[in-house]
Amino acid sequence: MVITIREEKGDMATLDTEQNNINEEGGGNISTANPAVPANFIQNSINEDLKTNKNDGRVHTRFPPEPNGYLHIGHAKSICLNFGIAAANGGLCNLRFDDTNPSKEEVEYVESIQEDVKWLGFDWDDRMFYASDYFEKLYAYAVELIKAGKAYVCDLSAQEIREYRGTLSQPGKDSPYRNRPVEENQDLFERMRAGEFEDGSRVLRAKIDMASPNLNLRDPVLYRILRATHHRTGDKWCIYPMYDYAHPLSDAIEKITHSICTLEFEDHRPLYDWVLDNVSVECHPQQIEFARLNLTNTVMSKRKLRQLVEEGYVSGWNDPRMPTISGLRRRGYTPEAIRDFCDRIGVAKSNSVVDIALLEHCIREDLNTRAPRVMAVLRPLRLVIANYPENRVEELEAENNPENPAMGSRKIPFSRVLYIEQEDFCENPPKKYFRLAPGQEVRLKHAYIIKCQQVVKDEQTGEVVELHCTYDPETRSGADTSGRKVKGTIHWVSAAHAHTAEVRLYEHLLLDENPDGETDDADFKMKLNPSSLESLTACLVEPSLAGAAPGSRYQFLRQGYFCIDSVDSSPEALVFNRIVPLRDSWAKIQKA
Ligand code: ATP
Ligand code: MG
Repeated sequence: MVITIREEKGDMATLDTEQNNINEEGGGNISTANPAVPANFIQNSINEDLKTNKNDGRVHTRFPPEPNGYLHIGHAKSICLNFGIAAANGGLCNLRFDDTNPSKEEVEYVESIQEDVKWLGFDWDDRMFYASDYFEKLYAYAVELIKAGKAYVCDLSAQEIREYRGTLSQPGKDSPYRNRPVEENQDLFERMRAGEFEDGSRVLRAKIDMASPNLNLRDPVLYRILRATHHRTGDKWCIYPMYDYAHPLSDAIEKITHSICTLEFEDHRPLYDWVLDNVSVECHPQQIEFARLNLTNTVMSKRKLRQLVEEGYVSGWNDPRMPTISGLRRRGYTPEAIRDFCDRIGVAKSNSVVDIALLEHCIREDLNTRAPRVMAVLRPLRLVIANYPENRVEELEAENNPENPAMGSRKIPFSRVLYIEQEDFCENPPKKYFRLAPGQEVRLKHAYIIKCQQVVKDEQTGEVVELHCTYDPETRSGADTSGRKVKGTIHWVSAAHAHTAEVRLYEHLLLDENPDGETDDADFKMKLNPSSLESLTACLVEPSLAGAAPGSRYQFLRQGYFCIDSVDSSPEALVFNRIVPLRDSWAKIQKA
């Protein structure tokens, strides 16, 4: 199967996903040690390590979220990759909270992240760690660097440090504190920890090379003074390690073998290696970068997602329009569909934007054979069958899913007064309109052929309020003796038996195809889709849906896939989220 992925710049690239991968260097057929493992450049690199018995044949990865927001579909890619690589190679994957920045982190996020990783179907067993667990060790390694003359306390302000750093075209300048004696550095660093200095007044910096072409190596900051209460260590620390220092060491302490991260850290790899090469930690994991997932018509940076939540553009992190795992879950996505999506997009080494239609295609594929097919009328129009006895109710047999006969069938009540979809009637139909029109016939799904005899209108507004029809008793589905054929089949519910429900229809959150391409924060909000949510409150669903559990998923015939909302729905007042409509633009792209 061929999928297309939109390159950020340039034309559509065609990718062969049978290989389940997009290989930058070699293309096509890359042999793997284990044929069950899909080939990609990360697996290839692991295969090399296995061949040379590097790491004694171990494969140990980690998923290292910062608990400063909820996980999104991009994180799902990283989770599937890290846990997937470990599983495929008989290895292990840790969950590690990268909690080195107390001012933005919260327990709520720590909890949601665990829930989301588990829901996706992955298990870290007893290997859940926090970078903050290592604060004492990280401090000791910093002291090692100081003693070796490889780190110094610098009193320049943040602004001055920036100025001294130079630019891509100009080398930096040495800090006047760069050559402080070791003892003085030791003393100052200790006193930084003891809380003797103000926030921001001093930092600990690595002593590497102010003229390095790589800005990350121009004496990067390792520690800063920050009085902020940490969600785990409380007020124990007033100095906190920087990400580029804490991350390689946390990996090494956990004996990670392959530290998989996104492409923007490629330029940080020399610093990752420098830290590990200059302290006494034994393990030296290998950092490998891959392209982060970008999706059309949504934003994926936690910063932007947080703005949407905090400024009330959405109802919360789990708003069904959000690309967060919790939003997708509430919308009705399954973990299987999300994992399938992550498999299909594969891993690449250059940034691209994946069409959100592929994600939608994956949930349709998953639910096609799993979700019961039921009838629901979203915009009801009353229909009376004039020649049907007033008090009669028939129980008609309805298959639950023609794609999956094992799902059996149910009974649905049929009676004289029904509701159909407003858009299934047209007073002056265009050619090839095969639904109801004056004098025209359709089949009611699972029931009879009816003919529209009369249209009742509101005297004041002229609006069509009711249709009078007749039915042909010889045409009952499954027992049709008439031999008649009609071109259209429409869905319906029985007025006396239907349950009212609210149905929420969603469209893409952003109108723009690549809103993350914009760096300007105000800009992306200009592109929010004003009709991303439409709530229909007078919908009618067939009675078999009464009492269905939150999270249950259905196909509403001819409408799409829907899920009972886990937050706002109750047995008395059902609320459904539309997961996706039935029309599948991705399938069309594939055929083209
Ligand atoms: P954001 O930019 O959305 O705030 P982040 O990279 O800061 O994300 P982290 O919590 O640090 O978020 O991410 C945890 C892991 O998930 C990291 O290894 C990161 O590389 C990976 N990750 C984050 N976003 C994506 C994405 N869009 N695609 C693939 N992996 C991602
Ligand atoms: Mg991050």
